[in-house]
Amino acid sequence: MTLRERSIEASTPLADGASVGVIGAGPAGTFFALHLLELLRERGRTAQITLIDRKTFASSGPSGCNMCAGAIGPAMVAKLRGLSILLDETVIRRIADGYEIHGSGVSVTVRSPERGEIYTVFRGGGPVAPSRKTKSFDQHLLDTAVSRGAGFLHERVEHIVRTPSGFRLGLSGGKERDFEFLVGAFGVNTSISRKLDIGYAPPRTWHTVQAEIPADNDFIERRLRNRIHIIPATSKAIRFLAITPKDDFLTLTGIGEHVKIGELERERERNRVLGGLLPEGANVLCHCHPQVPVGVARNPYSDRIAIVGDAFISRYLKNGIESSHDTARTLAEAVVTYGISADALRDHFYRPCIGRFRYDNVWGRMLFGIYESVLRKGHLSDAYLRSVSAGEASGRTAQAHILWSVFAGDAPYREIAGEAFSPRSIVELSRNFLGGR
Ligand SMILES: Cc1cc2nc3c(=O)[nH]c(=O)nc-3n(C[C@H](O)[C@H](O)[C@H](O)COP(=O)(O)OP(=O)(O)OC[C@H]3O[C@@H](n4cnc5c(N)ncnc54)[C@H](O)[C@@H]3O)c2cc1C
Repeated sequence: MTLRERSIEASTPLADGASVGVIGAGPAGTFFALHLLELLRERGRTAQITLIDRKTFASSGPSGCNMCAGAIGPAMVAKLRGLSILLDETVIRRIADGYEIHGSGVSVTVRSPERGEIYTVFRGGGPVAPSRKTKSFDQHLLDTAVSRGAGFLHERVEHIVRTPSGFRLGLSGGKERDFEFLVGAFGVNTSISRKLDIGYAPPRTWHTVQAEIPADNDFIERRLRNRIHIIPATSKAIRFLAITPKDDFLTLTGIGEHVKIGELERERERNRVLGGLLPEGANVLCHCHPQVPVGVARNPYSDRIAIVGDAFISRYLKNGIESSHDTARTLAEAVVTYGISADALRDHFYRPCIGRFRYDNVWGRMLFGIYESVLRKGHLSDAYLRSVSAGEASGRTAQAHILWSVFAGDAPYREIAGEAFSPRSIVELSRNFLGGR
């Protein structure tokens, strides 16, 4: 027996046919189920996986929706393809070719270096009545997981109790279910985390705002050029604003520490750049105040339990769905290969995820701070954005690539910072500024 085999045997393996409960059927929960099913199948093993969610992602408004702007970049699309999941016209609400970053009077378009498309999706049944012809992204993932062998319970989890062989969940209506391994994929917009008795504390969050505004196709194609727009806010309470086009809606997002819908409405009145990108006089048909994690959870694992997705850790202020995928996949690999003991989960799930995101997010915070303050400063932001497009026009694309990476790309922030502060980048920037372009 090798040392590795001995250490796996000493830990707690996931027994063949074990019952696995997943609280939350958002991206983290369904990605975990999909990866676990695939990894077990490859090894000729099985498990009874049950996804449990209080929502179904088919009804309209926040009650059927996991509340996000719904932008899915090329790297996430590739990961979906890796799971043999295709997004078709029933799920994709619009295809954007890039982001438009605005200053006070100038804007620049940045695209993925591979020219990959960005899909926009709804996470639930949509702002008004759900359509029979369309499906939300979360419903699509859940349907796929169920079609591949996961079970689904449409229930709210109300209690969590440890048992000698795992966990017992108390569900709405007084029902109970026992599981040998439990996954917390419940995100950060829930109070269930308080019922966990493993020393878990959720990550620090910001309270954001989102509003759905109707817009016709002509407006989105002509005025928004089918792109996602990032706009500096006039109010200090909002760190930045984003407009994400859907088929006949625009999702307006305000990101900041504590942003309320009233602040977003005031921004619509005051912010000239924002006003020019929204249909005049259009009413908000649906709004929500979702939280976004800006920190890392404490103790997101213990014997026979692990927490994934937003409820654990994600990349700072971008690509949350992809981060959920990545923590879920890391957990599935750890469980199948090393087991479900606290030691196995610490070494093969917790530490790899922390290594990937925690320190990188320190760079993320710094880069966002720098770009936010440049873009907020009228003349400086225009001079900078003019220099970015002048550089692009003459084949020097480093600055455009950095802007793409900060707001959308999947490169680690550490790498982006290396690129942003490289001598080449500084020379290029100074040359453009001094050249007055
Ligand atoms: C304003 C905003 C905009 C965003 N825009 C984007 C974007 O454009 N692209 C992107 O990639 N990411 C975006 N994100 C991030 C993205 O929404 C999250 O990273 C992602 O949803 C996290 O997935 P998750 O599965 O961990 O959590 P969630 O999506 O929150 O899913 C958690 C699930 O758990 C369920 N649940 C919770 N408690 C219980 C309970 N007691 N019983 C049963 N079920 C329960 C919930 O109903 C929910 O379905 C945005 C976030 C915010 C706040």
